[in-house]
Amino acid sequence: MKLILIGCPGAGKGTQAKILSKHFGIAHISTGDLLREETNNKTELGLKIIDIMNSGGLVSDDIVSALLAKRIKKDDCKKGYILDGYPRNVSQAEGLNDITGGIDKVILISVEDDKIIERMAGRRSCPKCAQMYHIKYNPPKSEGICDSCGAELIQRKDDNEQTVKNRLEVYHSNTAPVIEYYRQKGLVCEFNGEGEIEKISREIINTLEQTFK
Ligand code: AMP
Repeated sequence: MKLILIGCPGAGKGTQAKILSKHFGIAHISTGDLLREETNNKTELGLKIIDIMNSGGLVSDDIVSALLAKRIKKDDCKKGYILDGYPRNVSQAEGLNDITGGIDKVILISVEDDKIIERMAGRRSCPKCAQMYHIKYNPPKSEGICDSCGAELIQRKDDNEQTVKNRLEVYHSNTAPVIEYYRQKGLVCEFNGEGEIEKISREIINTLEQTFK
């Protein structure tokens, strides 16, 4: 099963991808996480892309595609994977067939822009295992501490209001056309991302189980 999760920043892609990955036993690949691993480790590549990432712009297609191509060769991708944050523009979508050999379904999670700013301001993430939380809607059991690995939670540098606005602009100009690209191929299933996390994941899982039975 090879899936793409698409939706604006803060739509809940990462949260849903983790649930789906566990349910179907397939890998969750977040290109944002792959890139953050480079910036956190201050690798040569990380230093090159840190300013773009902090401003909410897109890292060049060559860099992201190369990281993705390397990642999907790993053993945990044999049964399939969920791409979270890729493709981010039509040119990445066009190149994706060569990297993956084809995608089975595109899950679109829709949330209105005005809801996003509030969501992002309360978002916290684990720098160690990348688990996401929200101080109001999905708080950790113990304040400021990751339930999964016990690390101290942080607010991502690109989750401040101005950068979120930039990221939404980038989404509408670059990533929204990707939805149309996959709609024309009949691959898109759309879900309302404004309800409860569990309800949304149940709907997605039901749809996928019907499709792949
Ligand atoms: P995310 O965690 O998906 O919100 O991604 C965080 C940041 O990583 C984005 O704002 C971009 O700067 C960069 N990024 C992630 N995925 C891609 C991609 N497919 N193409 C270009 N830049 C990306």
